[in-house]
Amino acid sequence: MRIRFTFLLLLIMTVTSIAQAQKKISFEVSFKEPQAHYAEVQMELSGFKGETLDLKMPVWSPGSYLIREYPKNLESVTATSGSGKQLAIDKINKNTWRVEAGDDGRILVNYRVYAFEVSVRTSFIDESHAFLSPTGVFMYVDKMIDHPAEVTINSHANWKRISTGLEKVKGKENTYYASDFDILFDSPIEVGNQEVFEFTASGVKHEVAMVGAGSYDKEILKKDMTKIIDEATKVFGVNPNKRYVFIIHHFASGGGGLEHLNSTVLGASRFTYENYNGYLGFLGLVAHEYFHVWNVKRLRPVPLGPFNYDEENYTTILWVSEGFTAYYDNLLMRRTGFYDENSYLKVIANDIQPVENRGGNLVQSLSLSSFDAWIKQYRPDENSVNTTISYYNKGALIGMLIDLKTLQATKGTKRLDDIMKAMYDEYYTKLDRGFTDAEFKNMAEKIAGVSMDDIYEYVNEAKPIDYNFYLKNAGMELIDQLEGYSIPDFGVSLSSNRVTTVSRGSGAWDAGINVRDELIAINGYRLDESGRELERILTSAKVGDQLEVLVSRDGIIKTIEVSLPASKKGDYLIRSVEKPTVEQLEIRNIWLSL
Ligand SMILES: [Zn+2]
Repeated sequence: MRIRFTFLLLLIMTVTSIAQAQKKISFEVSFKEPQAHYAEVQMELSGFKGETLDLKMPVWSPGSYLIREYPKNLESVTATSGSGKQLAIDKINKNTWRVEAGDDGRILVNYRVYAFEVSVRTSFIDESHAFLSPTGVFMYVDKMIDHPAEVTINSHANWKRISTGLEKVKGKENTYYASDFDILFDSPIEVGNQEVFEFTASGVKHEVAMVGAGSYDKEILKKDMTKIIDEATKVFGVNPNKRYVFIIHHFASGGGGLEHLNSTVLGASRFTYENYNGYLGFLGLVAHEYFHVWNVKRLRPVPLGPFNYDEENYTTILWVSEGFTAYYDNLLMRRTGFYDENSYLKVIANDIQPVENRGGNLVQSLSLSSFDAWIKQYRPDENSVNTTISYYNKGALIGMLIDLKTLQATKGTKRLDDIMKAMYDEYYTKLDRGFTDAEFKNMAEKIAGVSMDDIYEYVNEAKPIDYNFYLKNAGMELIDQLEGYSIPDFGVSLSSNRVTTVSRGSGAWDAGINVRDELIAINGYRLDESGRELERILTSAKVGDQLEVLVSRDGIIKTIEVSLPASKKGDYLIRSVEKPTVEQLEIRNIWLSL
């Protein structure tokens, strides 16, 4: 009996797995009207005989924490059976379509996608190229995220190349394979006439797709990008990819990037390569997105993979995933020699400045900044400066504190690199799961051999950081160059004399100047559009002065008396302490060395 039962069970399992294996999902993407910014998508499902299926489209893209409602760009969704019979397809919520398979088990779902939003996480199509951001292009079958898919690109006649991190299907032209939908959604596709160049770095083949004209020199880029990739790989000791694709879009002005498992999409200004600082900015972006190969794409907080594509995925640890990546993008630029020691220290001071000078720093904690990314960081408004803090720059500073504390506690034998590597080895390589906030803290404490409670207070509470307590480990100090000066704080930012922000605690805040007020005159002097007159008045003003400000608010002229308090804003610089000890110099050397 026992043997027979096992045989039967095996038989059932085999039949089920054959039925599973026969299920096939594939896509064809065509471009009949690229000038009007459309792609035509056909999703073909086979082996689904007699089943009712829910087809879904993600509403957000991992790495960019905002609900973007991608299905809003879909139109003309229809379904037919394999024999061409029309099938009913009903929308049951904003991102789900219900369809019943015909008798032949095949369903062809057709829809058009409108794509005209320029960003690294949204699709864009015009007559020159198509950038397909997959979360807004491909539907998946509910509860079948793990199923493989094939994508065939029916390219436009004028376009010659396709660049993507997806694997090619052998023997099928312009056809790509994704082992599951997480991979498909993580693999943007560029179709057009991009210039492509290749190089090998850290044993990985890298492909760079340059979209649109740009003043780059590919030989210099190959050399410089190799340095960054090698330094990033050194932190973790292993580069998990065999192949990696950079898709770089050039615009009149641009920036930003989005990380993927084995590719990234970057936006760059066409002429960024001509100016040395602009070029350093570009390389910093390369370093940032490349560091994500490990930090966030593989070593990730629990809620960031596997993903729920239907709604917000909340995490309190973006200050590690994004902030530490921001810390390392600068550190890698130092280690590759693109920054000398002084420029690197300036870059850190430039991270401290916007944190310390932002009212929101003492209102929102770093962990809450991460949790609320969906409704705050990605949806800034006129009051954000007063209520929020960025997990990018403040997270980078926490990375620096942990680095300096670990170096001190281990006499320079361990640092943040070792914590990141240990986390990667444990939670990605060994366990292949996300980590919790407590697990990160435990690992940091294990490697450093000391408590990190003091630093976590800066993460979980909106309290001012005592930078010098940590900088002194490396014989450095932070100074405020404005200390001792009494500078009046009017406290508005303007666009064409219209108020765009009012900072908390400033003269404008106390007197009730509003965002959207138009400033017309101060103390009887008409303000010009250039802002020069305002600058003249504010430069000659002193703390305690009263300004008579004439504003237009919703078409009504008002006079507002503004009394100027002293500004609490600083102008920060990091420098060596006067007489650093040998121990301090040793730690400084390890911290800042190439
Ligand atoms: Zn990032």
